[in-house]
Amino acid sequence: MSVIRTQVGIVGAGPAGLLLGHLLHLNGIDSVIVENRSRDYVIDRVRAGVLEQGTVDLLKAMGVGDGLERKGLRHDGLYVSFQGERHHVNLVELTGGKAITVYGQNEIVRDLIDARIATGRPLYFEAEGVSVGGLESAEPTIAFQHDGTAHEVQCDFIAGCDGFHGICRPSIPDGVLTVYERTYPFGWLGILAEAAPSCDELVYTCHARGFALFSMRSPQVTRLYFQVPPEESIDNWSDEAIWNEMLTRMTTHDRWKPNVGRIVQKGVTPMRSFVATPMRHGRLFLAGDAAHIVPPTGAKGLNLAASDVLVLARALKSFYERGRTEWLDGYSDTCLRRVWKAQRFSWWMTSTLHRFPDETPFDHQRRIADLDYLTSSRAAMTSLAEQYVGLPAEVSFESVGLSAP
Ligand SMILES: Cc1cc2nc3c(=O)[nH]c(=O)nc-3n(C[C@H](O)[C@H](O)[C@H](O)COP(=O)(O)OP(=O)(O)OC[C@H]3O[C@@H](n4cnc5c(N)ncnc54)[C@H](O)[C@@H]3O)c2cc1C
Repeated sequence: MSVIRTQVGIVGAGPAGLLLGHLLHLNGIDSVIVENRSRDYVIDRVRAGVLEQGTVDLLKAMGVGDGLERKGLRHDGLYVSFQGERHHVNLVELTGGKAITVYGQNEIVRDLIDARIATGRPLYFEAEGVSVGGLESAEPTIAFQHDGTAHEVQCDFIAGCDGFHGICRPSIPDGVLTVYERTYPFGWLGILAEAAPSCDELVYTCHARGFALFSMRSPQVTRLYFQVPPEESIDNWSDEAIWNEMLTRMTTHDRWKPNVGRIVQKGVTPMRSFVATPMRHGRLFLAGDAAHIVPPTGAKGLNLAASDVLVLARALKSFYERGRTEWLDGYSDTCLRRVWKAQRFSWWMTSTLHRFPDETPFDHQRRIADLDYLTSSRAAMTSLAEQYVGLPAEVSFESVGLSAP
């Protein structure tokens, strides 16, 4: 068996694991990242696309923002559409200059993998049989097989960045975690289409047939979603049927609609709100989707992963540089403040914009009134805007050795 000694063992090379590895590297802290999928699989996975202002600032401050600056699409606002009318919410004006940026998660992951490789620090793809142990000891371990050889990473801390279906959270003994969960009676059918976006900003649509979302990945690629039953099979939907449904839900009275093009990727995503607390057990720290999931309506998942990692990096830096443990001890509480606000926002966006199967005519009218109020009150739009672009970070960039934006 090969034994590898490091300071921080990181399970998972998604956004959380890769961001943490790079932040630690910038602070001279060694890490080993262990990922069970292949490099291509991790990069090709189509998921998030909307980055909060703070996530954009973080990537730039970390020196991994070149691709983002070249290809990211900054959006100064968004549209909320209902009863055939689109209403503009000017994020920049309402938040004193903050915006969101559309840049695919796969691009971020690609940039971060390149940055990791450039550091020369270890990143194992296609690790098999990954397990963690010794969580309550001072030297926890990550065990795995790679290229037919058994490896053991001996570390001071483990960062569980292995997503919702990973092994870190289930490795915490029974009875330690409290789980808060809500499932929704719908999912999202999403497509990537070779069609130039017909609008420069996202359009969130509340339609009598259900929710739909217009977004984009690049000047050539449109990303669209609509609400379907949670167990819906993508095989039930021909490309023609998908376009019919998209156009029915999204076309507005002024004849605005998405451009139609070849569908290059499609799938159905379930919707769930989930929080496991505390986000720490012994020397294991959970970050990102490993600890919490939001429905994608509020576009918060990747952004929360980034903010967890910032908090964790500050705590680890303080431990290694000054031997202090209070920020490690406060990690879970600090993260959860933001996590719960993002949970509330994502739940609210989801509940207001989606049609529930048991919705009564009263519920429907109440939702329309909610949207009417939202789009006609500056106070309501400001509340939406400040949450959508991202609430202020829990910790400063300077505390992880980065320059403030
Ligand atoms: C359709 C969709 C749209 C979304 N849109 C947005 C959006 O617009 N904005 C936003 O902020 N968020 C969005 N999200 C959420 C976002 O994609 C996630 O929150 C984000 O990927 C979380 O990053 P993570 O690193 O915590 O987890 P993950 O991205 O899940 O990464 C975990 C990594 O761990 C690896 N892993 C798993 N098990 C093991 C194991 N046993 N051993 C080793 N490695 C393991 C996985 O292969 C993966 O690479 C969306 C999600 C979906 C599904």
